[in-house]
Amino acid sequence: MDDTQSLPGPPAQPVIATKPDHSISRQDVDPDALKIIYRLHRLGFTAYLTGGAVRDLMLGRPAKDFDVVTDARPGQIKKRFARAFIIGRRFRLAHVHFPGGKYIEVATFRRISDQAARETPAGATAAEESVPAHPYGTAEEDAFRRDITINALYYDPIADAVIDYVGGLEDIARRTVRVIGNPAERFTEDPVRIWRVLRYSSRLGFAVEEAAEREIPGHIHLIAVASGARLYEELNKDLAFETRPVVETLRKYGLLKFIFGKAGEAYENDSELFSQLSSLLECADRTRATGIFLTIEEMYALLFWPWLRPLLDAGGVDHHKLLSDAFRDASMRVNIPRNLRSDAVQIMIIVEAMDRAVRTGRMRWALTRRPHYKPAERLYFLIFKGRLPENGETFEALFRQAFPGGGKSRGRPRRRPFRNRPQGQ
Ligand code: ATP
Ligand code: MG
Repeated sequence: MDDTQSLPGPPAQPVIATKPDHSISRQDVDPDALKIIYRLHRLGFTAYLTGGAVRDLMLGRPAKDFDVVTDARPGQIKKRFARAFIIGRRFRLAHVHFPGGKYIEVATFRRISDQAARETPAGATAAEESVPAHPYGTAEEDAFRRDITINALYYDPIADAVIDYVGGLEDIARRTVRVIGNPAERFTEDPVRIWRVLRYSSRLGFAVEEAAEREIPGHIHLIAVASGARLYEELNKDLAFETRPVVETLRKYGLLKFIFGKAGEAYENDSELFSQLSSLLECADRTRATGIFLTIEEMYALLFWPWLRPLLDAGGVDHHKLLSDAFRDASMRVNIPRNLRSDAVQIMIIVEAMDRAVRTGRMRWALTRRPHYKPAERLYFLIFKGRLPENGETFEALFRQAFPGGGKSRGRPRRRPFRNRPQGQ
């Protein structure tokens, strides 16, 4: 697939913004990313910072990953950096490693988008496709293969300038998410871009440009054609932070059913159920805003809690099987690894047992010995108190406070209901 054909001709010259027309300070750039760029420059190559880091720094937001892009080929990078490793089978790129397990991704300018080439709407898999004969290109071509204009800016720390081939600077000023090229073609080529458009528009509070907005309804069903592994990758980006605004937008546009099958349908059709999810995600966002992170298992348990919680009311059945079957029968498009699903299920089962204990005065203390007890305890607090446990708070203390006669030693099951529990609990 050659996605350059459909793109408008690039402008002859990029717009170059120097201070004070851009707000990036070298001090906000990862020093290791800067080191790589300076070194490549000294070796005679062009190298820039690119992608989300430039976008976020331009917006005065802290940047997360600092991706470098260069005209040096992967082999050349490997030769010149002792700790560079080449990864990727289709589009090879280098990871330059630093102490402490940290690495910076250094990619070579490309003509064709990795994602678009990785899968076609016809459903060809990565393994069936061959590597494009000429994957590498110019800085300009690399900018045009990207998804939206604000993600296609380059920062050159040597000139202290932002280089813009696609109108991204203007779109930042206008607070607009604009698809690069023709939205219908770019969505057909890679429907995951719809998700990305909605993500950045809701995260940043930017408007989606009209032409793209118009094409979304007619193309969202194509999300179902994207590979489950890619949907999983994108989902993890949204579960890492600022989850609620994005999930709300995905629902508004009807994407949830294409990602989560029946679970997505439930969240789209039942606004009460969705509002439960929405407030849980809000709690997660608030928690993370204070610098406390939730694990991926905890996030998946949270995501599916409102959907699966009612199933746990059934007594006398194997809850693990019940929830696993629900996942299996949901026909989700996103491919959530089996272990992760099972972890989330085990957490949910313990959270439900805790909730039940607080209602009935009976707790199965043997659950404290399960490996998922601690994450379940954190999630219990998040779901029922709207925050994580603080200063050594435990579920056990909470329970014993509600049921003061309720057994003494941890781990010793108390089988009889407590008589002296407060009214209304
Ligand atoms: P985040 O802060 O969410 O990580 P990001 O912009 O860095 O934002 P990534 O998913 O890490 O997003 O992708 C890095 C860059 O790769 C993007 O900025 C964009 O330029 C390009 N890109 C990612 N996905 C696509 C896609 N589906 N089509 C075209 N370009 C893409
Ligand atoms: Mg990124």
